Amino acid sequence: MTTTTVILGAGIIGTSTAYYLSKHQPPSSIHLVEPSPSLFASASGYAGGFLAKDWFSPAAASLGALSFEEHRKMAEKEGGRRGWGYAGSTCFSLGKGEGGGEGGRVDVWCRDGASRAEAAGAGGEGGGKLTGVVPSWVKRVEGNAVEVISEEGSVAQVDPLQLSHFLLQKCLDAGVRLHHPAQAISVQADARNNEVSSVTIANATSGSETDIPCANIVIAAGAWSPRVFEALFPGSGVRLPVGCIAGWSVVVRSPRWTEKRGEEGGCHAVFTTTTQPGYSPELFSRVGGEIYVAGLNSTTEPLPDLPTDAKPRIDRGAVEKLCGTVREVLGVGEDDVEVVREGLCFRPATDRGTPILCRIPDGLLGSGVATRPAPEGGVYLATGHGPWGISMSLGTGKVMAEMIQGRALSADVSGLGLDV
Ligand SMILES: Cc1cc2nc3c(=O)[nH]c(=O)nc-3n(C[C@H](O)[C@H](O)[C@H](O)COP(=O)(O)OP(=O)(O)OC[C@H]3O[C@@H](n4cnc5c(N)ncnc54)[C@H](O)[C@@H]3O)c2cc1C
Repeated sequence: MTTTTVILGAGIIGTSTAYYLSKHQPPSSIHLVEPSPSLFASASGYAGGFLAKDWFSPAAASLGALSFEEHRKMAEKEGGRRGWGYAGSTCFSLGKGEGGGEGGRVDVWCRDGASRAEAAGAGGEGGGKLTGVVPSWVKRVEGNAVEVISEEGSVAQVDPLQLSHFLLQKCLDAGVRLHHPAQAISVQADARNNEVSSVTIANATSGSETDIPCANIVIAAGAWSPRVFEALFPGSGVRLPVGCIAGWSVVVRSPRWTEKRGEEGGCHAVFTTTTQPGYSPELFSRVGGEIYVAGLNSTTEPLPDLPTDAKPRIDRGAVEKLCGTVREVLGVGEDDVEVVREGLCFRPATDRGTPILCRIPDGLLGSGVATRPAPEGGVYLATGHGPWGISMSLGTGKVMAEMIQGRALSADVSGLGLDV
């Protein structure tokens, strides 16, 4: 018997889950529900797209490694370089201090405004002398140390917006149902046994409501996941332990990094340290000739109702600060940097610094709501990936699909449960 699954949230985590589910059940029994008028207007569309194999803390290490391998395999099979800018990368730390690889709290660096480079080598051997050619688009300045911090084959990059669209298109081509723009407004349970039996979806354009009979629900709504849970399971009284860390970003073009140069060599990730506390910019040169820069984050920026509501709130000062960093690192003037995209988006983050991938115990659903035993039913949660949701996206989709369908898990996610 096929169990219908409703996935709430069509960011990269929800879409990846739909993609992997669709390999093992009729795709038309999978429903993706997304309220934002623009698709991927959230973190999944505005992220850097940096992928690492082993920069994670122990609880997420198995998932991180699986995901890195899934990215490689999918790119190889589906033409990832052309399709979504998949490319191997070399990472550099640039600044007056030492490079990464020092360990420390690799799980909370983003919240603290420290550099992602702190996580380099967290799970690998580290320590050895690493080599690589300093990117030609980085201007060498006397006194600035440039250090390679990644081992060959252990980091890569994608354009996350293109990858997200690719995954969604694969789902749609296979027959997965997308409800957009739409929102789940209630969950119904069978009167005889209280088991979840359907989800009611309201279409944001027409206002019409549809009941989708289902026994599986996946909450993959990123930073909005606690709101979704509260709205659908009002009797629970449990607040999902997921907050958000906002981040500004810009994508620029400059004659110092072009598509042609990208074809000649690999991409680069440059992690810089500055003298300003809490500001550790990261720059990624992409296959298509763009440079992405982020690193200006906030834990106080309030989460909007929808990702698209963040656009008018993009702070000109933040954009200018990131552009200033680009000009400084590239050693160019204003005319040599063209801003092609700017963004403010919200990473779903947990205090412990690792994502949550689990079935929510029936006891937490409240007011006697129950679910059928797996794999015939359940309410699942896949979120809280913080600064690593692109890197861990494919592994998360794969493992969630296995969990929901009652198959053996490809990664050890035993340390990624729900602590409430
Ligand atoms: C500046 C920045 C740079 C980053 N760089 C990287 C990087 O280089 N590498 C990396 O691995 N990660 C990076 N990340 C992290 C990564 O972007 C996130 O971890 C990841 O995108 C989270 O994906 P998601 O699908 O969980 O959430 P989202 O992308 O936020 O998607 C959640 C979706 O849920 C929808 N939603 C909202 N309300 C509801 C509702 N009521 N019902 C249903 N759906 C709802 C939203 O509209 C949204 O589409 C970065 C993040 C930021 C902010």
